[in-house]
Amino acid sequence: MKKVIKNGKVVTPLEVFEQAEVLIEDGKIAAVGPGVSAGEQCEVIDASGLIVAPGYIDVHVHGSAGHDTMDGTVEAIAGMAKFFVTRGVTSFCPTTLTASAEAIMASVKAVHEYQQNPSPDAARPLGVHLEGPYIEKSKKGAQPEQYVRTAKAGDYKDFFSLGNIKAITLAPEIEENKEVIAYARSRGAAAVVGHSDASYEEVAEAVKLGLNHATHTFNQMGPLHHRKPGTVGGVLLHDEIYAEFISDGVHLHPATVDLIVRLKGPDRAVAITDAISGAGMPDGEYELGGQKIVVKEGAVRLADGTLAGSCLTMDRAVRNIAKFTGRPVSQCIQMATLTPARSIGVSDRKGSLEAGKDADVVLLSPELEVKATMVMGEVVYRA
Ligand SMILES: [Zn+2]
Repeated sequence: MKKVIKNGKVVTPLEVFEQAEVLIEDGKIAAVGPGVSAGEQCEVIDASGLIVAPGYIDVHVHGSAGHDTMDGTVEAIAGMAKFFVTRGVTSFCPTTLTASAEAIMASVKAVHEYQQNPSPDAARPLGVHLEGPYIEKSKKGAQPEQYVRTAKAGDYKDFFSLGNIKAITLAPEIEENKEVIAYARSRGAAAVVGHSDASYEEVAEAVKLGLNHATHTFNQMGPLHHRKPGTVGGVLLHDEIYAEFISDGVHLHPATVDLIVRLKGPDRAVAITDAISGAGMPDGEYELGGQKIVVKEGAVRLADGTLAGSCLTMDRAVRNIAKFTGRPVSQCIQMATLTPARSIGVSDRKGSLEAGKDADVVLLSPELEVKATMVMGEVVYRA
């Protein structure tokens, strides 16, 4: 049955209509604009006073609501997917940690199995973001050091065997890791610099090989120095690179978020949560890849105080971006929808309200609180 979302302010996000309709048919967007005729026998969803936007896309998220990608189970992916719609997320990339080949593969398989038979009332996994294991030890952050290795191990081809890898975070300055950049791109995945101490020059070199994305810019990356612009300088100054950032107010100073957005622009800056299983749960002790972590007052840390992911959710990420940068709402929404979709190569069907794309929609209050979420044309959440 056809549906029409009426009376809302529509943010596509590249266009803003103060009042327009979104027509949905067979799970796809059929038309968008003012005065779109719905015809008869059409279910009307009234969005008076609300913003109608594409569903959020989180391309770097380990877990939420007590579940973790590294649980390696279909139930964990299902649990995350169900929670995310309450935060406006309609698609996500379950993200692995540096671990044994067996443990990573178990997670890749679990995501693949869930993708074959996804729950209709939950967010959809687009594929896996592999964070590690080919990273720089001195920038490991919360990644378990005993499993850090180079791509010489050769196991990366196994990870790609099910065809569902969307991104791989690696340290491109390590000689043995360089071959993974072109390989990832040839398999339709983003090649991502992260947990890296690459120099500015090494980033430039990697861009030539196909590097096109950066994991949580500034965090666990060679810093910017005026005579040594480092990994951060390389990420900020290469337009080929989509730059993820964590806008929880803990990982980055609000002014640093503003700096990233000013330098990369809304069409290259990618809002992520990097959330772990404690997101959406009360303060307490949780687990991340077998390590004990403590969630307290909005921060997630290992026993030694190292930041270990966040308990951010995408709805709060977008509200914080608005607060930290003062940008128009359409740009804040773009960094959580169309830009992440483009960064992992799914913008042909996701990321904007355009005819022909999947009807993944979020209805937001003017304060950007989630009021309803729609996945593939079905309302799956109402606040
Ligand atoms: Zn992460």
